[in-house]
Amino acid sequence: MDIKKGDLLTMKKKHPCGSDKMLVLRSGMDFKLRCEGCGREFMIIRSKAEKNVRAVDRTKREEQTEE
Ligand SMILES: [Zn+2]
Repeated sequence: MDIKKGDLLTMKKKHPCGSDKMLVLRSGMDFKLRCEGCGREFMIIRSKAEKNVRAVDRTKREEQTEE
């Protein structure tokens, strides 16, 4: 799955705060995500995150790559 920094993910499983939108802060072996509902940031294993992604919004993606 093509997920990069700056993408806005819609998750299958909602965060406890009720939001299903997560912003990708960092991608690589693990993702660093920020919940758009409560602003909490967390790391998640890539394979685990990808299973939970319903949709990817790439319109906000930043042009420069971090890696
Ligand atoms: Zn949240």
